[in-house]
Amino acid sequence: MDTSLSTEDLAFQAEVRQFLHEAWDKELAATCNNTATMKEGVEEWQKRLYRKGWMAPHWPVEYGGTNWSVTQMFIYNAERSVVGAPEAVAFGVKMVASVIIGYGSEEQKAKFLPRILQSEDWWCQGYSEPGAGSDLAALKTRADREGDEYIINGSKIWTTYAQYANWIFCLVRTDSSGRKQDGISFLLIDMATPGITVRPINTIDGFRHVNEVFFDNVRVPVANRIGEEGKGWTYAKSLLVHERLGIAEVADSKRAFNELREQARREVNGGRSLLDDALFAGRMAAVEIELMALEFTELRALASIAEGKAPGPESSLLKLQGSEIQQAIQELRMDVAGYYSGTLQGELSASQLGHDFADYAQKMYFRGRASTIYGGSNEVQKNITAKYVLGL
Ligand SMILES: Cc1cc2nc3c(=O)[nH]c(=O)nc-3n(C[C@H](O)[C@H](O)[C@H](O)COP(=O)(O)OP(=O)(O)OC[C@H]3O[C@@H](n4cnc5c(N)ncnc54)[C@H](O)[C@@H]3O)c2cc1C
Repeated sequence: MDTSLSTEDLAFQAEVRQFLHEAWDKELAATCNNTATMKEGVEEWQKRLYRKGWMAPHWPVEYGGTNWSVTQMFIYNAERSVVGAPEAVAFGVKMVASVIIGYGSEEQKAKFLPRILQSEDWWCQGYSEPGAGSDLAALKTRADREGDEYIINGSKIWTTYAQYANWIFCLVRTDSSGRKQDGISFLLIDMATPGITVRPINTIDGFRHVNEVFFDNVRVPVANRIGEEGKGWTYAKSLLVHERLGIAEVADSKRAFNELREQARREVNGGRSLLDDALFAGRMAAVEIELMALEFTELRALASIAEGKAPGPESSLLKLQGSEIQQAIQELRMDVAGYYSGTLQGELSASQLGHDFADYAQKMYFRGRASTIYGGSNEVQKNITAKYVLGL
C-alpha cells in the first residue's frame, strides 16, 4: 500500500488545516469538554462542519456527502484529532443515517437526513435491554399494531445520551411466534411522545452518559418503521458494523499516545524521565507498535469500503484491537500520574494538589473500561472473528 501523499492530497491537507484553524478554537473546545455544556458545544461544532459541507463525508453526494477518497478521509481524521476536535456524534450521522440511506423510504430520507446534517435532531440508540445485550435478538420490548400505529411497551438500557436526544431508533418485537431474529422491527421514535421516561444511570467515571428508557403505551406511526415489518434484524446488523468501525478511534488514540509520551517525558522518577526507564519505554513501544498495525488494518478496511464493498466482519477486529489499545493507553497514563491518579475520590483532587493530568487520567481510565463492552463486548467480537473472518 502506497502511503505517500499526492500533490492533490497535500493541497487537501492544507485546506483541512486552514479550516480547523478557523473553525476550532479554545472556547469551543472548553464548551465541548465540559459535561454541562457538551451538547451545546458539539452541536455548534457540527454546524460549523455543516457550513463547510463536511458534516457527513461518508454519505453519498446526493444526500450531502463529500465524495472524499479514503486518503482524504484519513487526512481529515488525522488533522481533526491533532487539534482535539470531536467527531460528529455517531448515533445520527453514522448509525441511523446508514440505515435510513440503505433501507428507508424516500419520505424518511427527505425528512430525517437534512435534519441530521443540520444538527436539528440528536439521536440515541435503543437496542440493548436488561435481558438482551450480547444476545440482542432476545429483546422483549413489544410493538403491537393498532391501525396505522404501533403501541410500544418495554424498556431499553445503557442508552447513551438519551437525556439529550429528541429521537431514538429502536429495535422492537412485532412478532414472537417464530425464530427470535425474525420478529424484530426497526422504528424511529420521537422522544417527545407521551409515555417515554428517561432515567439516568450513574457510572463510576462521573460522566452522565447512559440511561434507562421506559416505554409505557407509546404510540408510534407505522410510517416511522424502517423497511419491512420483521426485517429489523438485518437493518440492525448493518448498523452495528458501522458502529464498530467508529469505535476503533485510531486517530484519537494516536493523539492520546503522543500526549502520553509528553507526560511521561515530564514525569521524573529517581532523577530521570520515565521515558528513560527501559521497562516503561518498552511498554510504550509495545502499544505504539499495536497502534501502527491497527492504523494499517483500518486503512485496508477503508480502502475496501471505497471500492464499494460493505464493511464486513473485519470491523469486529478493528473494534477489538482499537478498544484494547485505548485501555492500554489509559492504563499507562494512570501509571505516569503515579500516586496522584488515586486522589480523585479523596478529600483533595490531584489538580488541587498541583498535578495537571491525574484527574483526567483517572476519569478516562474509568470511562475506558466500557469500551470493551459497548458496541458488542470484545468476547462477542472474538466469536464473530473466529466464525466469519477465520472461518472456524
Ligand atoms: C458505556 C456504555 C454505553 C452503551 N451505549 C449503548 C447505547 O447507546 N445503546 C444500546 O443499545 N446499548 C448500549 N450499550 C450496551 C452494550 O451494547 C451492551 O452492554 C453490550 O452489548 C453487552 O451486553 P450486556 O451488558 O447485556 O452484557 P451480557 O450480554 O450480559 O454479557 C456479560 C458478559 O458475558 C460475556 N458474554 C455474553 N455472551 C457471550 C458469548 N456468546 N460468548 C462469550 N462471552 C459472552 C460478555 O462478553 C460479557 O463479558 C452501552 C454499554 C455501555 C457499557
